[in-house]
Amino acid sequence: MRLSRHYVIPHIATGDMFRAAVRSGSAFGQQAKAYLDAGELVPDEVVTGVVAERLSHEELAARGFILDGFPRTVPQAEALVDLLEPERIDVALDLEVATPQVLARLAARRVCTDCGENYSLLENPPRTAGICDACGGEVVQRDDDTEGAIRRRLELYERETAPLLDWYSDRDLLAQVDGSGHPDEVTRRLVATVDDRLAARAADG
Ligand code: AMP
Repeated sequence: MRLSRHYVIPHIATGDMFRAAVRSGSAFGQQAKAYLDAGELVPDEVVTGVVAERLSHEELAARGFILDGFPRTVPQAEALVDLLEPERIDVALDLEVATPQVLARLAARRVCTDCGENYSLLENPPRTAGICDACGGEVVQRDDDTEGAIRRRLELYERETAPLLDWYSDRDLLAQVDGSGHPDEVTRRLVATVDDRLAARAADG
């Protein structure tokens, strides 16, 4: 979210898209809710279909975009290559955070139900409790930030998502960024990393 504001490009977060579908009450949303609440991954073909539909809008291709929470599996990364052809992504960012810190952040995390803005009760709470600074929407704890769902998400991260580190590293696209510290500090590190990559890419022609 912060990166997309910095670069003024769309933020495409699959988790936000699924949460919006759940709120809409559609049949698709009801199916998605079961996966989200349990901390399970939504099946690859479903996620890839949702991203393909979003990326099919021409303006996105021209301006660039940030994918957040996608890909989460190797088949999703492979599908993304096909979706973007002949372009490719500029960089895959891996935010490194120690597990105890991840757990503390998830317990303190709150999210706007309208625009998806994230808050931390510890580091950057909304100015007015329960109300989004950005859009005035309601700020709540996520249904899947429960102990059981968090444990399952971490297990699935190790099994399904961690292999993407080698996958992107083998393709010279991986950048690992220290995710500890205040959100402003992490954003500064991310921007510096992305700027380096973009400059290197421009120099390569
Ligand atoms: P997030 O907001 O990124 O933490 O995603 C919340 C939930 O949405 C995840 O725990 C999954 O249930 C689902 N989800 C989001 N992105 C993906 C993805 N790329 N692949 C599979 N499931 C996803």
